[in-house]
Amino acid sequence: METAKPSNQQKKFSRRKEDFICSNCGRKVTGNGYTDHCSACLWSRHVDINPGDRAASCGGMMEPIGIEIENGKNIIHYRCQKCGFQHRVKALPDDNQEIIIDLSAISVNERKDS
Ligand SMILES: [Zn+2]
Ligand SMILES: [Zn+2]
Repeated sequence: METAKPSNQQKKFSRRKEDFICSNCGRKVTGNGYTDHCSACLWSRHVDINPGDRAASCGGMMEPIGIEIENGKNIIHYRCQKCGFQHRVKALPDDNQEIIIDLSAISVNERKDS
């Protein structure tokens, strides 16, 4: 009697697990495939055009400039210090809540786009 063996299919994951050292605070950040910013200081780097694609050549530091609450979730607003590119990412559960609270005191609607 034969038991059906599950075939060992290889799935292609497009998400990348990348560990990186935060250029702002020096913390070693363990990537889980979605991590694109430092969970300690929330700074990020301008490496993506679309989330995860690593297609941007800028490489500048992305400063967290504010928090927006959307459907009960914290969205971090970023601005690249080098080129001024702005984008938003969802905060992760591991993110430093104190910094999120500090940032949420800043109204993202009042910031100046220069
Ligand atoms: Zn950091
Ligand atoms: Zn940039």
